[in-house]
Amino acid sequence: MARIVTWSEPERSTKMADSTATKHVDAVVIGAGFAGMYMLKKLRDDLGMTTQVYERGSGVGGTWFWNRYPGARCDSESYIYCFSFDDDLLQEWNWSGKYPEQPEILEYLNHVADRFDLRSGIQFNTSVTAAHFNDDTNLWEVETDQGDRVTAKYVVTAIGCISTGQIPQIPGLDSFQGDWHHTGAWPHEGVDFAGKRVAVIGTGSSGVQSIPVIARESEHLTVFQRTPQYTIPARHENVDQEFLKEVKANYTEIMQQSKVSFAGFPVEFSEESALEVSDEERRAKFEELWELGGFRFLFQSYGDIAVDRRANDTASEFIRSKIREIVKDPDTAEKLLPRDHPFGSKRALIDTNYFDTYNRDNVDLVDIRHFPIEEITPTGLRTADGQEYEFDVIVFATGYDAMTGTFFNIDLTGRNGVALKDKWSEGPKTYLGIATTEFPNLFMITGPGSPSVLSNMPVSIEQHVEWVSDFIEYLSERDVATVDVTPEAEEEWVQHVNDVAEQTMYMLADSWYLGANIPGKPRVFMPYAGGVGVYRERCEEIASTDYPGFIQSEAKEPVLAD
Ligand code: NAP
Repeated sequence: MARIVTWSEPERSTKMADSTATKHVDAVVIGAGFAGMYMLKKLRDDLGMTTQVYERGSGVGGTWFWNRYPGARCDSESYIYCFSFDDDLLQEWNWSGKYPEQPEILEYLNHVADRFDLRSGIQFNTSVTAAHFNDDTNLWEVETDQGDRVTAKYVVTAIGCISTGQIPQIPGLDSFQGDWHHTGAWPHEGVDFAGKRVAVIGTGSSGVQSIPVIARESEHLTVFQRTPQYTIPARHENVDQEFLKEVKANYTEIMQQSKVSFAGFPVEFSEESALEVSDEERRAKFEELWELGGFRFLFQSYGDIAVDRRANDTASEFIRSKIREIVKDPDTAEKLLPRDHPFGSKRALIDTNYFDTYNRDNVDLVDIRHFPIEEITPTGLRTADGQEYEFDVIVFATGYDAMTGTFFNIDLTGRNGVALKDKWSEGPKTYLGIATTEFPNLFMITGPGSPSVLSNMPVSIEQHVEWVSDFIEYLSERDVATVDVTPEAEEEWVQHVNDVAEQTMYMLADSWYLGANIPGKPRVFMPYAGGVGVYRERCEEIASTDYPGFIQSEAKEPVLAD
């Protein structure tokens, strides 16, 4: 098993609530990132429900609160990586970077928290440790690590999809005399790399973003790579103010287009086939999109590169040719060439000077596919070919126990004490990625089985928050006591999620989408690959036809626990 990163902060509150007192609220929301913040606003301010949010960090922001590693920024362009629910908010916020950096996103979320007085509904420095459904009272009994005991009719998880970091279980870490950090639990005061010999393990999004910055800041950097990556230049720049003006004049349409699009971006996807154009024409298009940068290469080149292996090969080979062009040392270039999976089958990456970084004199690349890291030593690490390396700092950019890991950190039990961990032992099972059988009145924001991580997250988060809050309003108006998912609806949805995934390239890589990065995790494709627009339509159809697939039980007076 992998080591799970412990997320804690030195300033963590020592205050313990009176553990004998149980309070009651209409809803408990777990997490205060994008999802929990908006859920609080909807439930507390729009529906007038008593709502308690618990957040393990000392501030709002979720992912953007924790991921403070050098180079951390979002791959969605800033003007669409934000809430759309409030026109004034859209108009008053001015992004400075085309791809927003972590500090700017966190500043934005703090602004949102102030603007809608969200902090008053959030208890910080508090992790929910348990949530048990009580079959007698029809209430959730929620416990926190600060000693809180609270009952609630509804529990909404807003815990993020990628929020439980994993450090591979390599013997010896405790003996390491230098400093080590996981990218997702980065010290708030930053890390001074000046004059230091640094190792970065991992070349996913976090590695690809941090490696060029750490290379500049450190004396020497060694990158340990298991799987080479396809990554496209982001072409990051300051936001063009004229462009921003135009965006603001058309925000409603832009956001609407994002909501019905395939991936939550206001762009048209190409429907052209890579196989129906000449080699010259295809190469010219790839070149143009490479120069423009960002996800356009994936979305706007050829529609079939996501579903047809031969079409995909043309894009994959183009990127390999670019790596050979950029990286001067042929041996290093060779090691960087991704060959064991098609482009886009792992999370697509965009970068700033990633490949170019390997031309620096102070950067080395070590391929650990064939000779894995065998041991962390007091002074560094040793690989399976017997090579020893010495470091002052080790950076684990080794990813997350995604989609399910954070659920399993909570002792979550539903009807008759069934544990979510047991129910999902062969992979997550949900209806729409929002609810799961035997866990009544529990709603998940961007849970497994929804577009979530395959989309521009704020778009999917808003859709879920609004759908869940509309559903809760509907249930309240009808005085429904509990709502649960029918086993048939869940089975059918899980099957549909799998069927759609089978048609994509995603099944051809060992990725965290499939749980392949966590030893022992079942190989199941967890997000929904059918697209944001199609998914939204399905959700809307369900909402407008009295929520088929859900069992609404008769109202009965909830009995408050002592
Ligand atoms: P990741 O994509 O899972 O990458 C982890 C890296 O660590 C991979 O290179 C992986 O190699 C390597 N690794 C894992 N276990 C290892 C082991 N035992 N030995 C050697 N290498 C090992 O994690 P991430 O980079 O933190 O990104 C996770 C997700 O967060 C992203 O896919 C993205 O969705 C999100 N994210 C987004 C942004 C953004 O918007 N810009 C930034 C950061 C993160 P393998 O490939 O061989 O498994």
